[in-house]
Parts: sequence; C-alpha cells; structure tokens
Amino acid sequence: MKAPPFDYARPASLAEVFDLLAAHGDNARLLAGGQTLLATLNMRLSEPALLVDINGIAELSGISVSATHLRIGALTRHTEIEDSPLVARHAPLLAMAVPHIAHRAIRNLGTFGGSIAYADPAAEWPACALALDAELIVRSRSGERRIAAADFFVDVLTTSLLAGEVLVACEIPLRGPDWRHAFDELARRHGDYAIVGLAVAARRDGELVADARLSFLGVGNTPLRARQTEAVLNGRRLDAQAIDDAAAALRTELSGEYAPMSDLTNSSATKRHLATVLLRRQLAQIAAQ
Ligand SMILES: Cc1cc2nc3c(=O)[nH]c(=O)nc-3n(C[C@H](O)[C@H](O)[C@H](O)COP(=O)(O)OP(=O)(O)OC[C@H]3O[C@@H](n4cnc5c(N)ncnc54)[C@H](O)[C@@H]3O)c2cc1C
Repeated sequence: MKAPPFDYARPASLAEVFDLLAAHGDNARLLAGGQTLLATLNMRLSEPALLVDINGIAELSGISVSATHLRIGALTRHTEIEDSPLVARHAPLLAMAVPHIAHRAIRNLGTFGGSIAYADPAAEWPACALALDAELIVRSRSGERRIAAADFFVDVLTTSLLAGEVLVACEIPLRGPDWRHAFDELARRHGDYAIVGLAVAARRDGELVADARLSFLGVGNTPLRARQTEAVLNGRRLDAQAIDDAAAALRTELSGEYAPMSDLTNSSATKRHLATVLLRRQLAQIAAQ
C-alpha cells in the first residue's frame, strides 16, 4: 500500500516545530528516523495531514557526558549508540542491547527518541531507560519538563508526552564500577522484535547484591520492573540458591496482575517461562562478571 497524501515541513529550529505543532494540532506528526512512522503511513494505520521532519535540528543529536549524566539527544541514531565509546563506558547496558534492534540498515536511520516516544512494549530502549533510571527531557512552547522513565511509559504505544511536546533528550545517571549489567532477549529471528527480553542493572556491595533492577520488555503493556523478584535478590549473595529463589519469585510475580500479555504465537504461560529462562541466564552472567 501507499501512504495517504500529506504535507511536509522541515523546520530549522525547535521554535518552528512548536509553531507547527500548535497550528496543526493532532493533524501533525513528528518525523524522526521514519522507521516506524513511514511503515504505519504505508499501511494507512495513521493519516496525519502534515509531517514535521525534525532531522534538521542539530541540538537534538549527539551523545555527551557531564559530571553526573550521560546525555543522548533524541535524534541520535541507534548506530551512533552502537559505535559510541561514551556509551560503552558509561551505559554498557545500551551497548549490549543495541545489536538486538532490527538490522544495521534500520539502525542507521532509527533514532533513540523515536523508539522512546513510540513506546512499543517490545522495544529495547524503553526497558533500558527504566532499568537505568533515565530521565526523559521534553520541551514545548511553555518550557521544559523532566520525566522519570518510570512515569513516562503509560500504556501500549502511549506515553506521558502532551500535545505540542517534543522529546529532546534522555539523561542517564553515571554509575560507579560496582554496577553490573546484562541484556538478552528471545526473538523468532535475529532482528525481529523480542518475544521477551530482559535488561538487568545490579549494584554489588562486595559479594552481595545491593540494588537489583530487572526491566522486562515484551511482557507488559509498558516495560515492566519485576520489583518483587528484585526484593528477593537484594541483600543476597548471587549464588545458585539465590537464582533459584529469584526464578520462583518471578514465576509468582508474572502469574497475577503482571501475567504477560500473549501475542499471535506465544501464550502468556510461554512468555512467563521464557522470562524465567532469561532471568536465570542473565543472573548467572552477572554472578560471573
Ligand atoms: C523491520 C523493522 C524491524 C524493527 N525492529 C525493531 C526492534 O527489534 N526493536 C526496536 O526497538 N525497534 C525496532 N524497529 C523500530 C525502529 O527501532 C525505529 O527506529 C523506532 O521504533 C522509531 O524510531 P524512528 O526514529 O524511526 O521514529 P519515527 O518512525 O520517525 O517516529 C516514530 C513515532 O515517534 C514520534 N517521534 C519521533 N521522534 C520524536 C520526538 N523526538 N519527540 C516526540 N515524538 C517523536 C513520531 O511522531 C512517531 O509517532 C524496527 C523497525 C523496522 C522497520
């Protein structure tokens, strides 16, 4: 299918973007890498009258580090994250996750901000943002807001972005050398969206787990922190018994309110099982680091 007709604007500043969004309201849609939006237009799942191409706005791009944060501009391509020494050093979880996103050609165009704003529950960046306590920085005509990742993802493909707001960057707190990370996912083929994935960040205090963050993708309507399972790990040595106990806790946690949503080929029970497999594998990796 072909996209319905639309107008196209390529503003040179955020001020112009805000003017266009104010003038066209719901009929305008931001265009970043286009790797999701253009497909939805071609399938006629959305019919905006105007595409506002933000690719000419330099201040939205780039990766930088301050004394406290790693900052990733919304327009930063997935491959820039893949190739960034700053990311490898300060947010290794992102470097571990990025090869799982689609294929290199798509990663050359798709952007960090586009993925976060689209909020697909099976996408890698939202789950990583949650595991890393990232803050999403959004701007509109009326100023800037900072939203914790935990408050940003509201439902399937739904965020707390308001009309007229643009996601401009993401800030990730710098962590010390006592943090460990692991990322893995199970997908039908490499490059497909995950059936289930898991982003882990864990602070070690000597031999003990001091702060475990388990952020699942493909399980809930939004990325999901398995907080009851985290509580089972905190204060423990990460030995075989702790991993068994965490796996049992996860099965319980994903059986009630947080039972995984099924998809076309996987039942909720299959996803619960896969989540447990990933948890065991990744905790063993963390223990070995
Ligand atoms: C074959 C294929 C496989 C893929 N597999 C994966 C995968 O495994 N994992 C994964 O995570 N993704 C996958 N993707 C999606 C890809 O990562 C996209 O790049 C990403 O979801 C959207 O980023 P984008 O820059 O292309 O956004 P666009 O398609 O340009 O925009 C997506 C949406 O976000 C909005 N938006 C974009 N930028 C902003 C902003 N700064 N502020 C506010 N709103 C904004 C747009 O208006 C639009 O509604 C796949 C895509 C394809 C085509």
